[in-house]
Amino acid sequence: MYILIAASATIVAVASIAAARYWYLQLRSAKAEMEKAIHDVDSARNESETARIHGCIDRTRRRQAEAVFDVLRDAVIVVDAHGEILHANAAAGGLLSVSPEEAAGKVMTDIVNDHQLASTISAARNGLPSEGRLCEQELSFNGEDVSYEVHLQSVGGHEEPMHAVVTVLRDLSREREVARLKSDFVSKASHELRTPLSSISAYIEMLVDGDAADEEARQEFYNVISTETDRLRRLIDNLLNISRIEAGLMHIDREQVNVGELVERAVKSMAHQANEKEQEVHTQLAKVDLTVNGDSDMLYQVIVNLLSNAIKYTPQGGRITVAADADHLTRSLHLSVADTGLGIGPDETDKVFDKFYRVENYRRIANGTGLGLNLCRHIVETLHNGQIGLDSTLGMGSRFWFTIPMAEKTGRVAA
Ligand code: ADP
Repeated sequence: MYILIAASATIVAVASIAAARYWYLQLRSAKAEMEKAIHDVDSARNESETARIHGCIDRTRRRQAEAVFDVLRDAVIVVDAHGEILHANAAAGGLLSVSPEEAAGKVMTDIVNDHQLASTISAARNGLPSEGRLCEQELSFNGEDVSYEVHLQSVGGHEEPMHAVVTVLRDLSREREVARLKSDFVSKASHELRTPLSSISAYIEMLVDGDAADEEARQEFYNVISTETDRLRRLIDNLLNISRIEAGLMHIDREQVNVGELVERAVKSMAHQANEKEQEVHTQLAKVDLTVNGDSDMLYQVIVNLLSNAIKYTPQGGRITVAADADHLTRSLHLSVADTGLGIGPDETDKVFDKFYRVENYRRIANGTGLGLNLCRHIVETLHNGQIGLDSTLGMGSRFWFTIPMAEKTGRVAA
């Protein structure tokens, strides 16, 4: 009996173990399958995720590349092997009057409305030398004719699917303008230098030839030579100072400057010229602190220049007023030189600050270089962060003024 019980117990136990084993194996395989399924799902998800990320990266890179093109000032047009626009940057969009998005995918000849440029790009699609092609063309966009440097370059070989022609257009108008200004400057400067030089050499020649009849005549010749030499020196000094300031090479010695004292000194030094023309020179110095942080010599030069002009361009018996005041709200010093002279017409009030500009009708009235006011503007605006200007009525007189910050501590200083 015991044996039977033990045997059946053993059978039950073995069967349970087998069943358990069976179920264990079933479970393990189900788990493995599930893990595999999960793994498959995961990797499928990863692949699509990876593809999505790559897509994002591609789009971001493309946008970055387009953004780089868009910041260029030159116009860039990329045309593919089929003659369609792959990309036109913002500058090109401006010239072609389309947005870069509108231009993309369009046939180039439909968008590029300058026929000369369209045929240049079309010809380039048939082949370009490896170093590309560079030419200058007068192109017409938005009804304006402008000179451009046109640079064409191939990307990829002719047979390759990525073959494209990149066209870069650089506006040459600014370079042309700079070149024109330079040559204009050289011709005006040489003309202005030649005038006193011719006069000096003519008078020296007369002295050498004994053309001066007596001591008085000789003295007169010496005076002309001395005046013209001064004019030449002034011209060269002004020219050098202007170009030094423009090049950022002007050294300025900053110190506490009492502008009231500078005005008194300038009026005293010009008293002789004013007296000769029987002009009255008044000073109106406000009873406030007129101290600024600046270059004393240069500020003195500005005041003398304005005062000397007022004397030169005001007829006999006129009145000149030099006034200085401080605006403690804006922390700036205001100085003005007003005269009852010839005045300047509204179309010339800005021009008088240009290099070599002289009011045509006043050339006979006084000698000059046309550089004084330009130097004043540079000293006030470039070196002292101030502002210079003019209020004038033709035939009634002028009031030249400048303001400079009083609390200014640092300035452009160079070697
Ligand atoms: P310039 O050496 O010829 O005086 P500036 O640069 O000082 O050169 O002045 C430029 C021009 O501005 C002068 O030639 C003159 O025509 C005009 N101008 C300057 N100051 C006055 C003024 N106070 N009244 C009338 N015209 C003036």
